[in-house]
Order: sequence, then structure tokens, then C-alpha cells
Amino acid sequence: MSARHTSALEALCVDEGFDADVRLDEPMARHTAYRLGGPARYFACAHSLGSLKRLIGAAVSCGVPWMVVGRGSNLLVADEGFPGLVCTLGRDFRAVRYSDEQRAILAGGAALLQAVVQEAFRRCLAGMEFAVDIPGTVGGSLAMNAGTANGCMADVVAAATVLDADGRLRRLPAEDMAWGYRQGPFAADQVVVECELSVKQGEPFAIRGKMEAAHARRTKTQPLGCPSCGSVFRNPEGESAGSLVERAGLKGYTVGGAQVSPEHGNFIVNTGTATASDVKCVMDHVQAKVYEAYGIQLIPEVRTVGFAS
Ligand SMILES: Cc1cc2nc3c(=O)[nH]c(=O)nc-3n(C[C@H](O)[C@H](O)[C@H](O)COP(=O)(O)OP(=O)(O)OC[C@H]3O[C@@H](n4cnc5c(N)ncnc54)[C@H](O)[C@@H]3O)c2cc1C
Repeated sequence: MSARHTSALEALCVDEGFDADVRLDEPMARHTAYRLGGPARYFACAHSLGSLKRLIGAAVSCGVPWMVVGRGSNLLVADEGFPGLVCTLGRDFRAVRYSDEQRAILAGGAALLQAVVQEAFRRCLAGMEFAVDIPGTVGGSLAMNAGTANGCMADVVAAATVLDADGRLRRLPAEDMAWGYRQGPFAADQVVVECELSVKQGEPFAIRGKMEAAHARRTKTQPLGCPSCGSVFRNPEGESAGSLVERAGLKGYTVGGAQVSPEHGNFIVNTGTATASDVKCVMDHVQAKVYEAYGIQLIPEVRTVGFAS
């Protein structure tokens, strides 16, 4: 490493042979569905397992906090940004293919979930219909146990391969994974690099029907014209977060450019000029008012990054 670079991470930024794109002070607004959020001190797209290991290893050895991000469709990044390494997965993690032998779709951590849904449909494989229109990557969908009332990733994951903090790959079979509601079974320092999704031969018209119904439900009920993170809060047991927000009279509540969607109480949208702080203020207000009205503490589903706890 050259003496000019103060850290192993900065050395990787200027190493032309390194199989990753590394940028300094990259605005996270470019990498989140909300289109807001301050800079990541280091932002890297690792194209291979080797470069992913080196990046994380460098961050750990420099004492720099790090996190992995998919398409940022469930992230609220503070206006101050993230003072560490944000790592995304690139080229070698994007493949989606069907294995006859395993009767499973094998998908890389950076593959789009919609690419998996389309591959299943193309091959008349049933099981992924619930995931129609859920934005983001396969890795993010496992980390979040993404889903709808009709199913979630926990229902279809047969195994996942993760990169552990010690740089080793580990294959986790379904029976070793403890899923929660919108909560994957992984530690914060495990990166999902690949997974096996159980699908079974289905009837094309039935598959198409379920997919179209899921799409129609979404376009009818969700405000898809403005940037958002989807549902902001988890549904409390036996309740709908959106309905609680609506009954508390909070639809349309606005701070700066952030607004509780007039269409859907569990969406806080960026009307164009929102800051992360605006969104956070709306979230705090909604939590306080729902608690006041119903004694129910709404738990965020969106992952917040860079806020003081
Ligand atoms: C319009 C809209 C609609 C939505 N609808 C739904 C819905 O119906 N159901 C639903 O569940 N969600 C929904 N979401 C939320 C979001 O799409 C999902 O949570 C999605 O699975 C997140 O994927 P991502 O790649 O964008 O992850 P990110 O938002 O980038 O990250 C989410 C979390 O996953 C972690 N992560 C990402 N990649 C990896 C990896 N490879 N290994 C380990 N951890 C990783 C991150 O560290 C972070 O904690 C919606 C969002 C939007 C904007």
C-alpha cells in the first residue's frame, strides 16, 4: 500500500486492478428508492467474491463501520450520511438460473427479485407470485423476509449462502434459519451472496392470474407516483398499520417534503423536496399519535441508517 493513502480502503479506491467500483462521499440519494440521504464516506460495488472479501476485510482492519445494501428500496439514510463503507454487489452476483436437479431457482444476492419472478413465470414455476412488484434485490429480500399477505421469502428459501465476517462462505439450509415477520435470519455482518428458491411446476394460467391480481392490488392501493420505501411500519399483531394511521387522522400529514400518503396510511412519500429529517419527523409524529390514540407502538419496517439511536 502506498504511503499516500491513509487507509487500506483508500488504497483500494485508487487501485486500478481492483475488481470493484469505489467512490468517496457518494450521495446515498442516488442509491435509495426514497431519492434522499447524505453521503457514504466509501461506496463500493464489488463485482466478485474476492473483491467483496477484500473490501470488508479492509473496512474491518481500519475500524470503519460497513454495511451491505441492495437497491436501497427499504432504506432511510440520514441527511448526514453514513461515515463508513456502503457495499453493494455487482457483476458476479446477478445470475438467475433454474436447476432441474435441485428443483430450485438459484439466484445471486444482487439479482433483482423481479428477475426471479419473471424467470419463474417463463418456466411455469409456481411459488414466486407473491413477490410481484416488490422492488429490490434477492439479498435485500432475504434480509427483510420481504413479502405480502400472500407469502414471503421464508416460504420459498431452501438455502442461502452467506459470506461471514471472518471471510468464509457458509451454506445455511432452511432448517437452520429462524425467520421473523419482515426479518431475515442473518447477522448484521453476514452478506447473502446466493440463495436457492424452491418452486414447483405450475399451471401457467393460474400463475399468471395470481401475478395479475397482485399487480392490480398494488396499483389500486399504493401511491406509486412518488418515491417511498413501501410500508414504513410493520403491521402490529392482528392490525393494519395503514388503517391505524388513517383512523388517527394522519393521512396527508406533512413535514417539509415528506407526507403521509393520502392514498395509503403506511406510506410516507417524498413529494419532491423531502430530506431524511423530514421523513423521520413524520415517522416520529405518526408513532406518537398512534400510541396516544390506541396504545400501540408502531415498529418501523424501514431500515434507518446514520441516525442517532
Ligand atoms: C414501492 C415499494 C413497494 C414495496 N413493497 C414491498 C412489499 O410489498 N413487501 C415487502 O416486504 N417490501 C416491500 N418494499 C420494501 C423493499 O422493496 C423490500 O424490503 C426489499 O426486499 C428490499 O430490497 P433491497 O435490495 O432494496 O434492500 P435494501 O433496501 O438495499 O436493504 C434492506 C436491508 O437488507 C440488507 N441487505 C441488502 N442486501 C443484502 C445482502 N446481499 N446480504 C445481507 N443483507 C442485505 C441491508 O443491509 C438492509 O438492512 C417496497 C418498497 C417500495 C419502494
